[in-house]
Amino acid sequence: MGTIEDYTSGKILEKISKALVVFDTQNGPLGKSVIGSRLLDKLHEFEPLVLTLPEAVKHILGSVQSATAIRVCRSLNPDAPVTESVFLDDLAEAMVREGKAEFCSKEKAVKTLEKYPQYPLVVSKVSGSYQEICRCYPRQCIYWLAEQRGLKCLHRNNEA
Ligand code: SF4
Repeated sequence: MGTIEDYTSGKILEKISKALVVFDTQNGPLGKSVIGSRLLDKLHEFEPLVLTLPEAVKHILGSVQSATAIRVCRSLNPDAPVTESVFLDDLAEAMVREGKAEFCSKEKAVKTLEKYPQYPLVVSKVSGSYQEICRCYPRQCIYWLAEQRGLKCLHRNNEA
C-alpha cells in the first residue's frame, strides 16, 4: 500500500474508499476485530506522523522539489472543505507529470500549508519515504477516523 504508482494511477482512492467502507459498515470500536487489525496493518505501512508546522517546514526544506494539490481524498467527498497537500521529491515529480499537482517553490509549499491552520498536518510514507504532507480534514481522513475507532495509527515526533 502507498506507492507512487498508487497516487498517479488513482489506485490510492480505491484503497481509501475500502477503508471508509469499513468505518461505515462496522459499529463501535474496531481495535479487537479482525477487520480492524487488517486495516491497521495497511495504515501502518504509511507510518503516518502528525507534524507541527515547523516540522513540516523541515521536510519541505530537506526535499529536492515540491508540488501542491488539493488533498487526494477530497475527490471522494467533493462537498467537503478544501485543504491542500504538499508532495515532495519523486512523488511531486510523478504527480506533476500526471497533471495532478503543480510544482512550487519551497516558500509556496510552506505558504500552502499555512493556509489551513485549523486542520492537522500529517506526513505519510509513499514508496518508502515521507513524500506527502497533508492538511487533513479529520472528519473524512482514514487516519483520524481509525483513531476514533480505537485503531492507533498516528504517531508524533515527541512520543517516547
Ligand atoms: S485527509 Fe487523510 S486520507 Fe485524505 S489525503 Fe489527507 S492524509 Fe490522506
